[in-house]
Amino acid sequence: MLDIRALRKTFGAVEVLKGIDLKVARQELVFIIGPSGSGKSTLLRCMNRLEEPSDGSIFVDGVDLLSPKTDINLMRRKLGMVFQSFNLYPHKNALGNVTLALRKVLRKSAAEAEAIAMAALDRVGLKEKAGNFPSQLSGGQQQRVAIARAIALEPTVLLFDEPTSALDPELAGSVLAAMGDLKKAGMTMVVVSHEMRFARDFADRVVFMENGEVVQDGPPAVLFGPDAHPRVKAFLSELS
Ligand code: ADP
Ligand code: MG
Repeated sequence: MLDIRALRKTFGAVEVLKGIDLKVARQELVFIIGPSGSGKSTLLRCMNRLEEPSDGSIFVDGVDLLSPKTDINLMRRKLGMVFQSFNLYPHKNALGNVTLALRKVLRKSAAEAEAIAMAALDRVGLKEKAGNFPSQLSGGQQQRVAIARAIALEPTVLLFDEPTSALDPELAGSVLAAMGDLKKAGMTMVVVSHEMRFARDFADRVVFMENGEVVQDGPPAVLFGPDAHPRVKAFLSELS
C-alpha cells in the first residue's frame, strides 16, 4: 500500500530524514514514536508532499508519488491527514466542515455531500452534533470532526500527527476510541503519537525514529518488551 525507500529530506544544511525505509500494508496500523525533533512530522508531511523530499521514493498503491507525472491533488486525497490542531472552520458547523471538501474537492452535489458527511460523522460518534459549531464542541469532538472530514474523502491511507496531544486525557479517549474503530473497520493508518496504550492495543507495527533514522521497526510486543533496542527502552522509560 505504502512503500517508502531511502527517503531523505534536508532543510538547508541540516539532514532531517537520513534514508527512511518504511512499508505499510493494506489495513495495517503503523505507529511511529520517537523523541521530539526526530523527523516524525517531516516524514508524514513528505508522505503527502506537504514537504518535498530531497531524495528517495514513495509509492502509494503502486503509484510513484514523487514523479512529476503524478497528479498530486489526486494523491493528497488518497492520503488523508489529521493534525494535532484540528483546523476546523469556526463559522461552519460540524456538518459544514465535512461537506466543504466533498463539495470543493470531489464536486459532490449538496445532497450527496451531506449524506456522505452524515455517515462519516456517524462513524466517529457525532451524528447528533452535526449542527454544532466548533465553539460548541469539546476538543475531542472537534478532533473527531476533523477525522470525519478526512475519512469522508475515502483515503487509502490515513495519516495522524499527534492527534491527541492538544487534548486533556479524558478527551483524548474519545478520539482514540474513534481511531480504534477505524482500524477495526480495516482502515490503513500511520499514527505518530505518544499514546502507548493505543499502540499496544491497535498497532501492527511500532517504528522508533531518532535523529532522522529508523532505529527499530517491529511488533508492539518487541518494542514494548525485553527485546527492544536500548534506545527504545531509554525513550520509553523517560516517558513514564
Ligand atoms: P518531530 O515531529 O519528530 O518532532 P520534525 O519532523 O517536526 O520532528 O522536525 C525534525 C527536525 O527538522 C527538527 O530539528 C526541526 O527543527 C527541523 N525542521 C522541521 N521543519 C523544518 C523547516 N520547515 N525548516 C527547517 N527545519 C525544519
Ligand atoms: Mg512532530
